[in-house]
Amino acid sequence: MTSTSAKPGSNERSSAQAPALDNPAARLMLTNLLPVAIMRLSRTPSRGFQIDYLSESSEALWGLSLPEIGKCPRRLWRRIHPDDLPHLHDRLREAGKGRTEWSATFRIRTEGSEKWVVGRGLPRPDLPGDAWNITVTDITAQIQAYADLQASEARFRALTENIPGAIFRYRLRTDGTHQIFDMTPGCIGIWELPAEVINTDPTPIWNMIHPDDVPPMRASVVDSARSLKPWHYIWRLTTPSGRFKWLEGRGLPHREANGDTVWHSVILDVTEQRRKDEEIRRLAERDELTGLANRTLLRRRLETALRQRLADRAGGALILIDLDHFKDINDTLGHDAGDIFLRATAERLTESAGRDDVVARIGGDEFVVVMPRISDEQAVLDTIARIDARLSQNVHIDGRDLSTTVSMGVALFPRDGDTPNTLLKHADIALFEAKAAGRQTHVFFSRALSAVRERRQSLAEALRGAIVADTLRVAFQPIVEAGSGRHKGFEALARWTLDGQAISPAEFIPLAEETGLAVPLGRLLLTRTLSLARRLADTGIDPGTISVNVSAAQLREPDFAASIAAALRDYGFPPQRLEIEVTETVILGRSSERIALTLRELRGLGTRIALDDFGTGYASLAHLKRIRVDRLKIDQSFVRDIETDADDAVIVRTVISLAKSLGMDVVAEGIETREQLAFLRHYGCDLAQGYLFGRPTTSETDLVSYLSGIGQA
Ligand code: C2E
Ligand code: MG
Ligand code: MG
Repeated sequence: MTSTSAKPGSNERSSAQAPALDNPAARLMLTNLLPVAIMRLSRTPSRGFQIDYLSESSEALWGLSLPEIGKCPRRLWRRIHPDDLPHLHDRLREAGKGRTEWSATFRIRTEGSEKWVVGRGLPRPDLPGDAWNITVTDITAQIQAYADLQASEARFRALTENIPGAIFRYRLRTDGTHQIFDMTPGCIGIWELPAEVINTDPTPIWNMIHPDDVPPMRASVVDSARSLKPWHYIWRLTTPSGRFKWLEGRGLPHREANGDTVWHSVILDVTEQRRKDEEIRRLAERDELTGLANRTLLRRRLETALRQRLADRAGGALILIDLDHFKDINDTLGHDAGDIFLRATAERLTESAGRDDVVARIGGDEFVVVMPRISDEQAVLDTIARIDARLSQNVHIDGRDLSTTVSMGVALFPRDGDTPNTLLKHADIALFEAKAAGRQTHVFFSRALSAVRERRQSLAEALRGAIVADTLRVAFQPIVEAGSGRHKGFEALARWTLDGQAISPAEFIPLAEETGLAVPLGRLLLTRTLSLARRLADTGIDPGTISVNVSAAQLREPDFAASIAAALRDYGFPPQRLEIEVTETVILGRSSERIALTLRELRGLGTRIALDDFGTGYASLAHLKRIRVDRLKIDQSFVRDIETDADDAVIVRTVISLAKSLGMDVVAEGIETREQLAFLRHYGCDLAQGYLFGRPTTSETDLVSYLSGIGQA
């Protein structure tokens, strides 16, 4: 048997029919390509061994050509490193005695290089002459990699000596005993135990662990041992010197041949980090100003309470609290005073709430008290009474005594909702109702309230649509001279029809105010009013003074007067013929300074100002002095009963003489009967408005014929 004639270039056939190992030529070629040298030896009659077969790959491995090697293995022996020969001899002798398989690692020296190889021998009793199959595999690269690994491990060790954490190996034996070995000095720092103690028996380390952490930690170790998945755990520990620590450990497990599990482990002291985490968490869940729970924590507590109440079928309550006039404190005394007041409020709420109750601040002046468990509604009423009483006591700030009233909305759970969101939403609906009822009161949520709220919401949506689609109209109602009945002007009143049904401005105007639609709505109505007035004037008949109602939100717009001036110019309408009607509450409310300024600007344009619904609010003479008004409008509620109610008669008479003495004119609204008119005339009322003279109408033809009928004003 000699070397093969198959050459690497002639192997297209075998590569085409993939593992063609039944083809002897292909098999031969494959063995020659392997990085393994293959040979067969057998004994000669002289008892020496001879080479029966040698693969081509042997040339590269031994650094000799096949002819150079020839049939005698001696040439090959000479190439083996002398230091490795004794060992190899031993292996061969042993194997030869029992005709058993052998393997040995040794070095082959060729010109200029040295290779590490593994030789393996397999006896072939099926062949004559004590034959052996021998493979020699080059493992130089693996040996090199291993050496590199050793070197890097040494480097790694050098590095880890200085790491504050503990690096070590942990062995868990099949009998449950354990051992720590290969540990870095950091271990001593972590556990504060002498190395000998740790190395002898790690039990004292387990004994330092917080009792609550021991069972789950043990379970995590056992689990990692079973699954051979990386181990990770965070636990608490108290060292022999009494130091408390948070430790975080990770380990990579592997199973040894004897069944032991050994982890490469790292433990880090994460106490500082945990402290910071807890601080951050505390900050994230607390309201900075008052230290109360914030919305996040409130939500978490509510969730817990809801879960418990759903489980035990008992009840709880959420009280949403809004300070009634906090804005005034902020506006008049400044934000520092406001902050002090809020902190005081937080303290008082905490005092008023029960020990298990959660008190939270969820907005500027919005607070929440959650009563996680209540026996009945009376318990909620008791808390509400305590809150009312405590908050109405004075807080002393900057030499002033301040107190507040509150509006509260209550939602009970699980009755009114089983998620934090619905509960808060429902409490908010109830709170809204409490405010609408004049504040300083509390309202319990009910389904009926919810229906009212829903109608309001869908109405607001529809109104938004109507503004965009420009489907709102204005009606004109005549205002006449009380004595003569002569036409003096019109009041423009908004009209809106939704699905064929008229919605009262008394409903949609406040809705527009609440939903931020007052400004665009007002702008639209003003345009409609002026264009109608323009068209009436264009018929050649003077429509007189046109009165428009405006909302507080419009008057708060800094450019409101300018926009009126521009609109008047656009329609060529004289400013003196426009009257702005504002209600008493408008000049008393929020941003009254800004509103007073706008009103002065309007008067500066020459526009007139009328105070609407006079007598229903709290406007005083002082206000009338601050804001110059051209006209007072006596509210129809006084006119209605003027003949029968002595008080109303007195009020009307007083308002008329007041207006006269201040140089204003007076309009009485809502006159429906001749008797009412007679009374008002008698008291000296200048002007009159009401169904008696004409209903508000959007019909232009009706308006034109009305104006033609009465002739010029
Ligand atoms: P207001 O300004 O006091 O308007 C007078 C209200 O009395 C009008 O109700 C009018 O239709 C009604 N009225 C007139 N004569 C009589 C009468 O003889 N008997 C009775 N029972 N009522 C009479 P309306 O149109 O429902 O408006 C209600 C309120 O809505 C108005 O009160 C005004 O405050 C507000 N409003 C109406 N249009 C506008 C507007 O364009 N802008 C703003 N901001 N508010 C408006
Ligand atoms: Mg009016
Ligand atoms: Mg009125």
